[in-house]
Amino acid sequence: MIERALVVGAGIAGIQAALDIANSGYEVVLVEREPSIGGHMAQLSETFPTLDCSQCILTPRTVETGKHENIRLYTYSEIDSVQRDENGDFCVRIRRKAAYVDWDICTGCGVCQEKCPFKVESLFERGIGTRKVIYTLSPQAVPNKPVIDAENCRYLQSKWDIEAGRVPAVDAKGNPAKPKCGACEKFCPTGAIQWDQSDTFYEEKVGAVILATGYDLFPQSRLPEYGGGKIPDVIDGLAFERLLAASGPTAGKILRPSDGKPPLEVVFVQCSGSRDPERGVPYCSKICCMYTAKQAILYKHRLHEGQAYVFYIDVRAGGKGYEEFVNRAMEEDGVIYLRGKVSKLFREGDKVIVKGVDTLSNRTVEIAADLVVLATAVIPRLTNPQVAELFGVPCDENGFYCAANEELDPVLSLAPRVFMAGTALGPKDIPETVAQASGAAAKVLALFQKQRRVYKEAQAALEAVGD
Ligand SMILES: Cc1cc2nc3c(=O)[nH]c(=O)nc-3n(C[C@H](O)[C@H](O)[C@H](O)COP(=O)(O)OP(=O)(O)OC[C@H]3O[C@@H](n4cnc5c(N)ncnc54)[C@H](O)[C@@H]3O)c2cc1C
Ligand code: SF4
Ligand code: SF4
Repeated sequence: MIERALVVGAGIAGIQAALDIANSGYEVVLVEREPSIGGHMAQLSETFPTLDCSQCILTPRTVETGKHENIRLYTYSEIDSVQRDENGDFCVRIRRKAAYVDWDICTGCGVCQEKCPFKVESLFERGIGTRKVIYTLSPQAVPNKPVIDAENCRYLQSKWDIEAGRVPAVDAKGNPAKPKCGACEKFCPTGAIQWDQSDTFYEEKVGAVILATGYDLFPQSRLPEYGGGKIPDVIDGLAFERLLAASGPTAGKILRPSDGKPPLEVVFVQCSGSRDPERGVPYCSKICCMYTAKQAILYKHRLHEGQAYVFYIDVRAGGKGYEEFVNRAMEEDGVIYLRGKVSKLFREGDKVIVKGVDTLSNRTVEIAADLVVLATAVIPRLTNPQVAELFGVPCDENGFYCAANEELDPVLSLAPRVFMAGTALGPKDIPETVAQASGAAAKVLALFQKQRRVYKEAQAALEAVGD
């Protein structure tokens, strides 16, 4: 067996697993499809229940991962194909997407991003902020090297139009047509822009694999009774994290998307899509009760005069210090908890009308809110089935990877030497994710060390025969 591991996905689960293995002296190939590592944790403001700054506790680990001598990091990359040899080792083909920037030459100075004249909606900012066409995910990105979003780049699109004959090959003066813009290339001090870059393929051989591809959130478009994603001041939990984050589009000021005003009444709706078999999410998303309490507390800390309401079915706060944290939201920060479901949300003037019931007092409730935050369900990545198929791992009925034995071997898959960790297996918070990632890493290390022990024993036996 090759004593090298592959980790797919570099959120906090993948990072933790990779560091544990690398720090034990074994090589790790870490593949992340985004331009930089950190996953959803890089989007969070502060973390429950300690209210630590998420970026501050994550950055030392992303930096260590980025420069670790035992970690070969492929960002902006995905697994293209997998083959197993007769020893059960994996030969993995990795596709690195064209970034149109030579990362070996780029110093990460950021001049190109400054000079690029075009902005587009940023998925990292959950649509409430923008980014340039040449971009890094955040100022703390590891690696701190930009990529060009080809679909929106004027130069690449006009270059391809000329090459494909979609526009005249000569301009009005009869000169050969030239691609437009090119500001990033003009201003880059190191000449790192590389227009002819294409996807690159790499092959790596490994003896064990950890899948840590994480989670997505249930799309608001599938919640028509909550506006279907069309009401600007109805946002999801990750978007609210970006409003709270100092590195976010409002520099940590809570301003509502529609008009940039501070929202004085905010309604949080738990279980938005979760525990709803009709929508295909019969399970509890496990983290929403806690992050909603956190967000309501942080909202009150920033806007003292504001009022937060939380609609909940029941509060599930199972964790060390978690129950106390929710109580703190109610008792110290005056968050009003209303037990019941929200039946409908709609826009009226500059308000969002929230209609629900308080099942404790048996009353209908109507709140004219300035902002509504939906704790949308944690769902598996849409691409999980493809990854699962590549490695021969089954998924459960909800689309999360399936463990060989949920009780006693929760990180081992049914495919030999393929392990799993984090929210790719189901909803969980950061401490549980990290513990599970260390568990998966320990399983991989045990495999490698067992092989060494067997080899040493065989060698000792041979030497004994020789004597
Ligand atoms: C609104 C909100 C607030 C939260 N607040 C807290 C909090 O305060 N405290 C707390 O403990 N938890 C919190 N959480 C939960 C926390 O986000 C998760 O526990 C944690 O981020 C899970 O990490 P992960 O590595 O499993 O997944 P992810 O963060 O999703 O990382 C997975 C990584 O894999 C990559 N990837 C996916 N597919 C592929 C592929 N095919 N190939 C290569 N790479 C791939 C992704 O790009 C990503 O980088 C919150 C969650 C939400 C939604
Ligand atoms: S060519 Fe222009 S649009 Fe394209 S990334 Fe460079 S500066 Fe931005
Ligand atoms: S200007 Fe050039 S060197 Fe600086 S970040 Fe952009 S591509 Fe890299």
